[in-house]
Amino acid sequence: MKSLKLITSLFTFSLVITTCAQNNDVQITTHKLTENIYMLEGQGGNIGVSVGDDGVFMIDSQFGHLTPKILEAIKTLSDKPIKFLANTHHHGDHTGGNENIAKLNTTIIAHDNVYKRVKDNPKQNDTSLPVITFNDKLSLYINGEQILIFHLDNAHTDGDAMLFFTESNVLHSGDTFFSGRYPYIDLKSGGSVNGYIQAIKSALILIDVDTKIIPGHGNLSNKQDYSTFLKMLETLKEKVETEIANGKTEYEVATNTALTKTYDDLDYGCCFISSEKIRRTLYNGLKE
Ligand SMILES: [Zn+2]
Repeated sequence: MKSLKLITSLFTFSLVITTCAQNNDVQITTHKLTENIYMLEGQGGNIGVSVGDDGVFMIDSQFGHLTPKILEAIKTLSDKPIKFLANTHHHGDHTGGNENIAKLNTTIIAHDNVYKRVKDNPKQNDTSLPVITFNDKLSLYINGEQILIFHLDNAHTDGDAMLFFTESNVLHSGDTFFSGRYPYIDLKSGGSVNGYIQAIKSALILIDVDTKIIPGHGNLSNKQDYSTFLKMLETLKEKVETEIANGKTEYEVATNTALTKTYDDLDYGCCFISSEKIRRTLYNGLKE
């Protein structure tokens, strides 16, 4: 028994070491999209940055422990202060750095429901909260252009926002786009399968073939990639709806690998959401 305990504690210890090592290993990669807009990749949701005479405008903050590295990366792009930080939704891999950034006198902007969900999260401090919130849409004029910030009803969560840089033709889609992979649809936080599909369609109306898209997760993308992602979701939705209509149970859908095979073969189950998880989500989201 004693040795079992020792093995267990050793295992836990090595796990902690590994996690720390992974965190220390995270590098922030900067991609230049236009003269003054960048995408920052690290761990968690992709960050968007606009720099210019008015200051830095930032979208999402990843995890708190990465803030020093993120700030270092932004410093190489601009020596101006970060004036605004907009959150695309409340998840910790997009808002985890809010508290640190707020200390720099940065104003945080997000949808009303992001405020509520961050406020209700015992793991997050009140300084992580947005200071400006909106219910539908908001316009911001900074660094020579208008930024449209607009809410999508019940998509990835109930507080999603997309941001469109009208002059630069850059869209940050938030987590309504997991480029080349299965999406997380957070049904427990007000997300919905049909709302998610509708959100993508709303974005596709707004953008054109030249638009550069910063997806919530995955590589820098374009309209074609976003349309392919929509097609995947609509195809799987139809298949799962047929299963539901035929009286199949959640277990039967979750274990039916044939439903997602085409996209599994393209490695859509690579990352956070496995093929089983997406079949389960679609089942639960469409069952009602
Ligand atoms: Zn998310």
